[in-house]
Parts: sequence; structure tokens; C-alpha cells
Amino acid sequence: MHDLIIRRGTVVDGTGVPSRIADVAVDGANITAVGADLGSGHREIDAEGMLVTPGFVDIHTHYDGQATWDPYLTPSSWHGVTTVVFGNCGVGFAPVRPGAAPYLINLMEGVEDIPGTVLSEGVKFDWESFPEYLDALAATPKAIDIGAQVPHGVLRFYVMGERGADHSAAPTDQEISRMGALLEEALKAGALGFTTSRTIKHRAKDGRLTPSLSAREPELFGLALAMKRAGRGVIEVNSDFGPGEFEVLRGAAEISGRPLSVLLLQVNNAPELWRETRAQIHAARKAGIDAHGQVGCRPIGLTMGLETTTHPFFTHPAWTAMSHLSPAARYDRLERDPELRRALVDQRPDDEYTREIEARLPRTYVVDESYDYEPDPSNSIAAQARAQGRSPWGLALEAVMAEQGKGLLSHTFENYSEGNLEVIREMLLDEATIMGLGDGGAHVCTVCDAGSPTFLLTHWARDRKRGPGLPLEFLVRKQTRDCAEAFGLKDRGVLATGYRADINVIDFERLRFLKPEVVYDLPAGGKRLIQRARGYRHTFVAGQETLRDDEHTGELPGRLLR
Ligand SMILES: [Zn+2]
Repeated sequence: MHDLIIRRGTVVDGTGVPSRIADVAVDGANITAVGADLGSGHREIDAEGMLVTPGFVDIHTHYDGQATWDPYLTPSSWHGVTTVVFGNCGVGFAPVRPGAAPYLINLMEGVEDIPGTVLSEGVKFDWESFPEYLDALAATPKAIDIGAQVPHGVLRFYVMGERGADHSAAPTDQEISRMGALLEEALKAGALGFTTSRTIKHRAKDGRLTPSLSAREPELFGLALAMKRAGRGVIEVNSDFGPGEFEVLRGAAEISGRPLSVLLLQVNNAPELWRETRAQIHAARKAGIDAHGQVGCRPIGLTMGLETTTHPFFTHPAWTAMSHLSPAARYDRLERDPELRRALVDQRPDDEYTREIEARLPRTYVVDESYDYEPDPSNSIAAQARAQGRSPWGLALEAVMAEQGKGLLSHTFENYSEGNLEVIREMLLDEATIMGLGDGGAHVCTVCDAGSPTFLLTHWARDRKRGPGLPLEFLVRKQTRDCAEAFGLKDRGVLATGYRADINVIDFERLRFLKPEVVYDLPAGGKRLIQRARGYRHTFVAGQETLRDDEHTGELPGRLLR
């Protein structure tokens, strides 16, 4: 008698082999059999017509703070994700000296757009060292498994003080060995990796560039040596990949003997640059270095509405004059005052922000219930306005005022230079890539891509209209086994005997997104964008059901990976 049998589902087991109809038996936290005639179970689920997959593994999130206050780690856990890894991009919350939290909050607020008020109210900072942070994470109840990485910017600030916040300051030899010792200690205590940011997109809230931006070889190589001593951990990097950049990172990977995980995405000012980086990844792999690119499965979407962090009229004096009003009151005024609406549309401020928005309108779309995230450029706000002989600003205002002021626009920020997702298809098909741009927990009121695993399946295996799709088995492998293996998590990501019973039962025919929405459920009443899904019939974490018919069951079997 098994604890649980999931019967007659279409098993897509995470290895990439063709799907098959089979039963899955679970005892305790593990899968104990996959096949036919497995006997009976204390609980049995009829999964006929459903997909049965491993729980999804999302290795690129920023739940460093949220993990300390939210046991459900949403939006990720609404999308079949059963393991998240955070501490990415060089930012996080440990180690931290007493009194130094405000700087880390400032950095996280600037780099990842998580409001400082949310973080100062939500994160307790009752730790100093990274191992103490891990203990705090281990002690909080959670529905899914979490793993933490050591952020470079934070480590730097801890050891170098104010100088560490200045990306142009170089650490002394002593400071490098101190950072190395702390990194080694953290990895040995269970950190899954070391992360660094080398992109000018990352700035603290005070405007200063992210501290790790220009760390030179001696510092990176010193830290790489620490990773070698620890013998564990991944090096994660978010870089602009200027000249010589990959070589430095490759050097660090070589010294450490650890895997190198770099963000790979298409940027508009150099739409072919990612190919160069990809070639460098391949060359490194040929030379025996374990390197891969983290890719997304849809455009990175900047979501704009009247309640999000930004929207097209954000700097307009008529809008800022209403900043003291509640969202409902602002909408009310917009609704009742045609003069105000005309002013917003016709008398635009002559500022950089507004010019930037204007330049974005040809790649900005109305998000409706059926928005498919591979929009045709002929449907953009600018193109629609041209076709209708109207002002794009007028259309944009109508769009954000729709649904009682809850309307949304999506600007295809990156991964969409050609106006379609062919480039993503190429990235997905590359054997040297894993899934990793969902950014769950970050950019809370700007970007809402944490539901990427749902999109990966629905768009690429089922709905794509503007080009060929991809096989379901391949996509599931990409989001499960490949991600787990890349981060050394060998106990999950596959449906087979002995693996952890992290399992999704999905009504694939009905699997879909709901429209993104702004909710005010963060600490201190902070707002965030969320996107939910429909079609996740059951999610199991370590054999316990955490989600049923898209709602949390209240079970909290998750633990800290260490
Ligand atoms: Zn990130």
C-alpha cells in the first residue's frame, strides 16, 4: 500500500523522453515507483487526461526578503514551481553588520525594485553572518523548497564598509581574503552559489552603480579560490558583456572548478551580442568548463498601469499633482474630468522620461485577458494609433483607464528586438541554456514574469501562432532536470524511483494565465504585480499536496536546501 498513487496520467518525466501513460507511486517524501500496476494507495488521484510532471525548478528569483515573511513564495508557487533559488545578481541580505541593513535595502530597492518600506518592515535582519541567515530561512515555514546564494555586492559592503558600495574602489589583499573566507564559510553552511552583477542596469536607489560592477581579476579570482576550497556552489553573473568580460568570468570559473551560470538575453542596443556570449559559453564548454546561459521564454515585459511603478504619464504635472490621492480617487478624477484627460494626452512634459516612453510605444501593447506575450508589432499602441489616425498617448490613456483603472500595458523590454520570439526559440533550443529569467520576487510592480514556467508550456508546446513551437517533453526537461542539475540538486527534477516527490498534475488543455493584477499584500501595505494561473490541479512538494485546483492547501512541507 503506497501513500499516494497518481493514476493513468500522461507522464512527462523531466528527462526529455517521450511522454507515456503511467502511474506514479509516492511514499513519504519520495517517488517509489513509476509504471503500471503499482497496487493501491491510501490516496489515489485519477490523472487521466492530465499531464504529470516533476515540480518546476526556478533558479533565478529574488525572494531573499519575501522568503522570511511569505510561506507561499507567490507568484512562483502558483505556477507549478516547487524549488526556488534566490540571492541572484549580487544583491541580497546577508552577511550584514548591525545597522547596515538600510544600505542593503537601498541596493535591493534600486536594483530589483522592491520598495524600501516593504523590506524594512518585512525583513527582520536578526542575523549577521550568512550561516545565521540560512538558519533564519530554515526556521521559517514554507510551501516550497528554497535555496540561497551569496551576493557579491553584499559581501563587499560587509567587508569593505562604505568603500564596498563604490564600484570603483578596489579591495586590499586582506579584504579579498576576508571576503573569500566568508564566502567559503557560507558555501560550507549551505549556500548554493555566489552571484555577482556587472551590468550598468543595476543601480542602488541612491543612483550609485551596483558595487560589484567593475570588480577586477584579483578580487574575482580570490573569491573563485574560496569556491574551490569549498568545493561547491555555482557562480551566477548578470553582465553587460563588454569586451574582455567573458574571459574574466571564464578565468574565475576555471580557478574555482565550479559551474558558471550567466544571464543570456537579447538587448535592443546590441541585439546580436547574446550570440557572441553564447559562442563564448560553447567555447568554454568545449574546454571542459561547466558553463551555461540562463534564458527566458518570453519578452521581458515592463508592465504599466495607473497603479504600477511607472506608466506613460508618470512625470506629467497633472498626474503628479494627484500623487497624494488614493488610486481609486485618482481614477475617479480621471474618469470625471475630460479636461484632465486632454491635458495628459496633449500637453506632454518635455522631459527625458516622456521621450523614452514615446520611443517605447511602438513596442508596447494592451494586455487583455487573451494577451499571448508574442504580440504582433502591428498591434502596438503606436501602430494602432497610426491605423486609427489617433494619438498613441490617447490610446495608452484609454488602455490604462480600462476596467475601472486596472487596465495594463506591456512594453516588450528585452528579448524582442525583432518583434517576435524566434530569438527565444533559438535560445531555448540551445543545449547550453537553462531556464532562468523569471525574476520572481523582484521588480514587484514593474515586471511580472515569475509565471514563466506556465508560459513555457502553454505558448511553446501548445499555443504559438507566429512560428513553430517546441516539444513538450523538451520544455519540461528544460524547466526541471536541467535547472536542478545545473545547481547540483540531484534529488529532484525527474519523475523516477528515488527522486523527491515534487510533482505537478496539470490540466494542460485548460492551462492558462489570468491577467496580471496589482495587489496590496506586501508588508507595510506595499503593492506588487501578480499573475495567477488556472490548470494546476495538484502540486506536491516532498509528497505533500501544496496546491489543489490552483489554491494553496496550507501544507508547508518546504525546506531550505543546504
Ligand atoms: Zn536577477
